[in-house]
Amino acid sequence: MAVKITTRAENYSQWYIDIILQAKLADYSPVKGSMVIRPRGFAIWEKMKSVLDSMFKETGHSNAYFPLLIPESFIKKEAEHIKGFAPELAVVTHGGGEKLEEPLVIRPTSETIIWAMYKKWIQSYRDLPLLINQWANIVRWEKRTRLFLRTTEFLWQEGHTAHASKAEAQEETLRMLFVYQNFAESFMAMPVLTGEKTESEKFAGAVKTYSIEAMMQDRRALQAGTSHNLGQNFAKAFDVTYQTQNGERDHVWATSWGVSTRLVGALIMAHSDDRGLIIPPKLAPIKAVIIPIFNNQNKSRVLSYAKVLFERIKTSYSTEIDDDEQNKPGWKFAEWELQGVPVRIEIGPRDMENDQVVLARRDTGKKITIPAKDLEETLGNLLEEIQNNLYHRALLLRKKNTYQIKEYAEFKEIFDGPGGFIESAWCGNPECEAKIKEETKATIRVLPLGRDELKNHNCIYCGSTADKIAVFSKAY
Ligand SMILES: [Zn+2]
Repeated sequence: MAVKITTRAENYSQWYIDIILQAKLADYSPVKGSMVIRPRGFAIWEKMKSVLDSMFKETGHSNAYFPLLIPESFIKKEAEHIKGFAPELAVVTHGGGEKLEEPLVIRPTSETIIWAMYKKWIQSYRDLPLLINQWANIVRWEKRTRLFLRTTEFLWQEGHTAHASKAEAQEETLRMLFVYQNFAESFMAMPVLTGEKTESEKFAGAVKTYSIEAMMQDRRALQAGTSHNLGQNFAKAFDVTYQTQNGERDHVWATSWGVSTRLVGALIMAHSDDRGLIIPPKLAPIKAVIIPIFNNQNKSRVLSYAKVLFERIKTSYSTEIDDDEQNKPGWKFAEWELQGVPVRIEIGPRDMENDQVVLARRDTGKKITIPAKDLEETLGNLLEEIQNNLYHRALLLRKKNTYQIKEYAEFKEIFDGPGGFIESAWCGNPECEAKIKEETKATIRVLPLGRDELKNHNCIYCGSTADKIAVFSKAY
């Protein structure tokens, strides 16, 4: 099997799809727009899930499960929410061979069913805060889909919390935003910008939406996670009140936050190269692969030597050994590079005689030869180095392609050309935002946190006084 991946320079979109299909991460489903996640892709998602799940538990959340089907009337209760989600709803009208009295929607997100339940569960301030997360699948009827990045059905987690005060809800919203930032940067090796979404980009039903945004290798932005302060909107729609410490009744304050299998797409796009996938070691299902190099004369000796090393490291470093006799080493090298395994360990007859091994890094392709006795220690250090290198490589890419621009002509030139992130002053008027989108296809990704020191600036579009910095980019 000859592997042929379109290069990034040739066609970035095709490169992305080629990697997914050739590395067997996912496949197209017979239903247009939905996706089959294959074992190798699912293993990455499972890694992500387990790290995130412990982060959620460390911050006090518990997992629960709410049903897939939601009465249509629930979705209609919060006015903004239905407006935002109506075009994407899948509706069940028949069940058990009969027309249903009330149609049921397949959850596009679960605020409504969860708040219908919270009404039963929350009576007093003693019931608060209520901190629940669920791992689930979601259906949004997308017209234009792309594997992992935008599919009709996807997997995600959605946190839904209820609080006794506005301040507490805001604190939770930011806490979870920073959990996502930490996960993206420390585990995915993907630097992200954090900030608030503008009115036009926020979640339907939220008071404020915050997101993490990463730059992909084609200099486009990818929204990788969102955290919403829902204010009292859902509590009012579902009439969820609680008795305060003073004996009064007030509506409950809410947040919701989520990341999805889109993160797998982000991970692929952020790090991979023209040889295939590159997985940051902390999320790699297989961290190292041993490839014994042998011929008929030395086969059994090389294999038994390689197996001794394999037994030594397999548990601490989730290692595989490729002792298949059909394929040549060169073929195996390419195949494991395509899979994105961070380190390849080559063991040939000469290495065996000298009691050494060769380690090849997936990120840079560099090889080092080390004494076999040092394998555990060197491998551990190397995996850490690869993790750091991937992060710094991505950070450098973002730095090189981030501009502070004051003239709209220059702004347009960048989006007509190479693209990237542009930081400009913005007056806050949605019309300027809409015009910019129309003329350049760039949207405001975030109003970055902690950057409101702006004085005496003019809006990049209309020139009037601006007190906000906005980060603009074309986005996935
Ligand atoms: Zn303006």
